[in-house]
Amino acid sequence: MQDEMKAADKISVSNAPNYAALTPVVNGAGNKNNLHQYDMKILTGHEQKWVDIKAGLHLLKLAIKNYGSVTKAVKVLKEIYLFKKSVLGGIQTKLIKVNNKYYHSLYAPGYPSKAFDNYIEGEFHRILPLKKKTNILTFIFFAITKKCPLQCEHCFEWNNLNKSESFSLTELKAVVSKFQHDGIAQFHLSGGEPMVRIKDLVQVIATGEKQSEFYVLTSGFNFTAANAASLKQAGLTGVVISLDHFDPEMHNAFRGFSNSYNDVMNAIHNAREQNLVIALSICVTRAFTTWDNLMQYAALAKKLKVSFVQLLEPKAVGHYQGKEVLLDETHFSLLDKFYFTLNFDKAYNNYPVIIYHGYHLRRAGCFSGGNRSLYIDSEGYVNACPFCNTKSFNIKDAIKTSLDVAATLKITGCRVYENAR
Ligand code: SF4
Repeated sequence: MQDEMKAADKISVSNAPNYAALTPVVNGAGNKNNLHQYDMKILTGHEQKWVDIKAGLHLLKLAIKNYGSVTKAVKVLKEIYLFKKSVLGGIQTKLIKVNNKYYHSLYAPGYPSKAFDNYIEGEFHRILPLKKKTNILTFIFFAITKKCPLQCEHCFEWNNLNKSESFSLTELKAVVSKFQHDGIAQFHLSGGEPMVRIKDLVQVIATGEKQSEFYVLTSGFNFTAANAASLKQAGLTGVVISLDHFDPEMHNAFRGFSNSYNDVMNAIHNAREQNLVIALSICVTRAFTTWDNLMQYAALAKKLKVSFVQLLEPKAVGHYQGKEVLLDETHFSLLDKFYFTLNFDKAYNNYPVIIYHGYHLRRAGCFSGGNRSLYIDSEGYVNACPFCNTKSFNIKDAIKTSLDVAATLKITGCRVYENAR
């Protein structure tokens, strides 16, 4: 393994294929590419430090306002800094700016915003309790539909797909409203393919209060220019697009859909047109996880100007049920190395930020299971996360009561990893 990693170190990104040739241009997207200036920038060096100083002063003011004491405020901020550093494994050498907001993670709201302040106050409360009400959760994954035209290898909703819907539009709105009432920073709306239910999706986002951010998790299907514009107008912050290989044919085969790669490229284009935050998400299978593949994928992500790349480890659930898909220590150390290289090595400052849950899980514990997040599947069952089938209770029953969903799930949820604080 060491030899393989040393050899991999020598692979230069300039060896990556010319992706411009691979990137299909349809819907007249090519010409527009030259006209629209996507308002996204990766900040590093002095630019990043300047924003960090401004954000730091803002946090200090917020902490003093909440605790009425400079000593307590400094103590809490110091703990947050150390906690973040220990979870991430270091301090990132870059910050993402999209549409005048700054993001260090896909799962933390952009600064400056009300959603960011509420999120931070929730973190304050975990360290030194506040008297006021704070966010209970940071984000939820919410599968709003069972419909999907794709047949992905790793689909965790496989057993629910293309059955009759569990949620009416009214119920979708009621779920969003319940979590907003309890305090939440982000909704990540998934499915099925949520873009199949575009009209309801727009309405759910439009009626949600603006103290939370909304993301759509899509294969790119139906993420047309018009739909992207409607979602943005409704209040969408960003989009997480699944791209499971840099090679179009390999991606399409993984997704069981011959036009999927084209859909991904069009979705990225249309999201850029709307100045949305864009993340790519990849299931890093055993076959895919080599250094060369990871770096080629990173080169494509950089070229596509996405802000984040999310690495999801395959789990033996849904379509993968009963299959030998779990990664081993060799894969973990390669993925850790990739995560560190892209996020902390200044030579890769102009690459997207890597989100790798596996790294944090194995070191800091689990942030799901009602700690900071949970998953509502397309039947309405509340699970610890999309990958741990812990079906606890149905959210449709919970919204009729004043049940504390997060606290109940903490008791009934997944115990594979101990919860983080
Ligand atoms: S993973 Fe998503 S896009 Fe793929 S089949 Fe399942 S629901 Fe559809």
